[in-house]
Amino acid sequence: MSEKTTVAGVAVDTRHWIGGERVASAGTFTDVSPIDGTVLAEVARGTAAEAGAAVAAATAAFPAWAATPRAERARLLHAIADGVEKRLDELANVETADNGALLRSHRRGVMPRVAHNFRFFADWLLQLEHEDFETRGHSNHVSWDPAGPCVLITPWNAPLMLATWKVAPALAAGNTVVLKPAEWSPLTASLLADIAAEAGLPAGVLNVVQGYGSEIGDALTSHPGVRRISFTGSVPTARRIAASAAAALTPLSLELGGKSPLLVFADADLDLAVDLAVEQYDNAGQVCLAATRILVEEPVAEEFTRRLTEKASRLRQGDPRDEATDIGPNIHPRQLEKIDGFVRRAVASGARVVFGGAPNTRLGGLFYLPTLLTGVAQDSEIVQEEVFGPVLTLQTFRTEDEAVRLANDTRFGLAATLATGDPARTERVTARLVAGTVWVNCFFVRDLRAPFGGSRHSGVGREGGTWSFDFYCDLKNTVTAPKGWLSHG
Ligand code: NAD
Repeated sequence: MSEKTTVAGVAVDTRHWIGGERVASAGTFTDVSPIDGTVLAEVARGTAAEAGAAVAAATAAFPAWAATPRAERARLLHAIADGVEKRLDELANVETADNGALLRSHRRGVMPRVAHNFRFFADWLLQLEHEDFETRGHSNHVSWDPAGPCVLITPWNAPLMLATWKVAPALAAGNTVVLKPAEWSPLTASLLADIAAEAGLPAGVLNVVQGYGSEIGDALTSHPGVRRISFTGSVPTARRIAASAAAALTPLSLELGGKSPLLVFADADLDLAVDLAVEQYDNAGQVCLAATRILVEEPVAEEFTRRLTEKASRLRQGDPRDEATDIGPNIHPRQLEKIDGFVRRAVASGARVVFGGAPNTRLGGLFYLPTLLTGVAQDSEIVQEEVFGPVLTLQTFRTEDEAVRLANDTRFGLAATLATGDPARTERVTARLVAGTVWVNCFFVRDLRAPFGGSRHSGVGREGGTWSFDFYCDLKNTVTAPKGWLSHG
């Protein structure tokens, strides 16, 4: 197996990163670019042996890292952020080649946020404290103790962004990490290992193991020495991980799928509402938070649909490396088939295609046309299940009650977006929506100080700010008797 490959002009090591060393596996898997089917790399195909070695390395590195003063941990995280910023273009280019998302988004939005993830949690660590308080003369002191080795498992749709959302707080908290990136976009995780090493992160503090979740996952998630598992991905995988983690009762954080609504009331700024709808095609619809169920108040539904159709027709689909492109390819032939299957079954059961509804035959490859479906029943598969492609449904409602009922009527609860010009309605509706995040007249505004996560099948737990430290630490309350109590006792 060749140890390095060159992707978009960048040398990427395709082996694992374990205990500060590159480690190969007997087998490899082929990593293909969704843009044009080019083979990018033969990547180490991890087995239980490498999973065990990575956990062992993380376990060995833990005591020293946990004992490293907070200020030094924060300094190293900032040094990693510096490294990300220095290699921002390289990371953006490799990520686009690997997962097909827009290069312009990677350059301007995603990779700067990757650096920010490290800076934010470094700074948050330094101000993390709980005021001491007194109980009958005894002082209470709350501390966040590092928990131990953490296994972090991430998906392919925003690989480095989602990985560093976990890596940064886990490391800041004084934990060591085994990161398992998704097999469809494994490359930037390897670059992150290089960057962390260059920044001076001690060996074994961050480990990266590559491979198929079905082959290597269980060895990681059932390992009794692992103290936390944080997973972002699909509901079926989450169930497997939860079952695997059950024996050791390892605490889990689960960020899962969604089927989020966009509620458009008649009092909304309709152009803004249309802009919000069009945003849902970003990353070819492969966004967990995407508001893929548009619910529109009846009197404005026709006009909304007309404007959305017009605006969507101007979206440019094509090579994600081209500045002018709005929608790139989907990730994998299996994903394209899955998307098309959802649409075909919806149409067979009575849905009407307003636009799109098929792969983009002009472009071929993995491009699926931005799609809008109407005439869909609330209990139909297309309304209830996550498609993870550029497919939106549109339903109408007559009353606020009906809007809320439809919005909440899936097994998910990740996010909801509201378009309305009425503050009183905003208050009423927001209070009744089941969702980890509600956006009002905006979308995708994210701040790491806020809790992030989903309700119901969209997840377990919240991340962000202190919530991340609560998850990645063992919280301890130390109660100290008043001075001199022995002499009085
Ligand atoms: P997936 O569940 O198929 O895979 C995610 C990761 O889990 C991959 O690294 C995979 O290798 C690993 N994995 C697979 N089987 C495993 C096992 N048995 N044990 C341990 N690990 C295993 O998900 P995906 O298709 O990569 O990602 C898409 C899904 O992720 C969608 O459902 C999407 O909504 C969700 N997602 C959620 C968020 C969020 O923050 N809520 C963000 C992005 C994506």
